[in-house]
Amino acid sequence: MAVHVPACPSCGCTSSRTWAPGSVSLPVASNMLCFDAAAARQVPRGELVLLFCGSCSLTWNGAFEEERLDYVPGYENSLHHSPAFSRYAAALARALVATFDLERGLAVEVGCGRGDFLRELVGAGCARAVGFDPSLPGIRIEDRLELYDRRAGVTDIEGARLVLARHVLEHVSDPVTFVTTLSSTGAGMYLEVPRAEYMFDAGSFWDLVYEHVTYFSAPALRALTRKVGYRVRELRPSFGGQFLSLFAVPGTTHRPAGPRHAGEVARLAAQFDAFGAAFATTVAHWSAQLTRMAEAGPVVAWGAGSKGATFLNLVPGSDLVAACVDVNPLKQGCYVPGTGHAIFAPAELASIKPSTVLVMNPNYLDEIAAVLRQSGLTPRLVPVLDGPGQAALAG
Ligand SMILES: [Zn+2]
Repeated sequence: MAVHVPACPSCGCTSSRTWAPGSVSLPVASNMLCFDAAAARQVPRGELVLLFCGSCSLTWNGAFEEERLDYVPGYENSLHHSPAFSRYAAALARALVATFDLERGLAVEVGCGRGDFLRELVGAGCARAVGFDPSLPGIRIEDRLELYDRRAGVTDIEGARLVLARHVLEHVSDPVTFVTTLSSTGAGMYLEVPRAEYMFDAGSFWDLVYEHVTYFSAPALRALTRKVGYRVRELRPSFGGQFLSLFAVPGTTHRPAGPRHAGEVARLAAQFDAFGAAFATTVAHWSAQLTRMAEAGPVVAWGAGSKGATFLNLVPGSDLVAACVDVNPLKQGCYVPGTGHAIFAPAELASIKPSTVLVMNPNYLDEIAAVLRQSGLTPRLVPVLDGPGQAALAG
């Protein structure tokens, strides 16, 4: 009988290592809007079996089944309701307009959601911005901003100066074909993905999500860019280190990957192993913390996006969390997939009077503190972040 050797979906190499915890079960759509608590608890779940490529350092879910996911209306993952995220997006739009000379050109975004970032680009001076998104019907918003269904006229993107995909690459099971398609435009390219190094360093298992087939590190993203005949102009951590931002242009580099790449991959392999080894301890740490916090009074989790959903789904005893809070109005009144936690608007927190607020993303700590102050609430704020070994220290 033939033994199946998993090949890296990016570089094709078959020397992979497996994540120590083995299989983890999560809802297949962590950002699906659920309008009923009982139905939310019954959503379909899928398995994650993480593999790490010893050649390019890509991490991927070897158990991912693409046919289980469908990005239909009702899939809601906009972050633009947060002031901190809006500041980040505005600065990025300005950088893209300057880098790719968009004041005189067209930018094309693949996976544009409702077009929040296309609006940022136009606001920053981009002459024309066009987007595609499978979860949207074709809509037209304003003069210089056109959104099309992906089946609509692709010829409209001819002559684009920039093609960009923010938080899309990690959702596709064939990243090579996807990036090759982007590069076939001959335009400048901007890719943004969650940064695997951050997840490994922080031990942040709540950054795992079924919808993400891949978890790119800097060396893995660099290798893929080179593979499609593009040159990395800039590759850096962004958004408090949680994202990787890649600016690339057509043209190959003739330098081989070399010993620096091999050293980076070896270091990342060790971090991947450490992340796996710490998983059970970190989950147990947060489970014990929830018990302690709940003894002091109501606990709420701020952030009902994928981090919040994964945390609540994987930490035993998360039913001790009274509710979730989210600034995205579309999520308010809905329930967390997999656990059924109710999602409140910040203004509704006064009715719960939480004694502890778990902050699912530390990047939003300041704005959450400000909202709570304005509401006259003074709960203890606990950011969910684990520097290396933090679980052991706090245990
Ligand atoms: Zn690889």
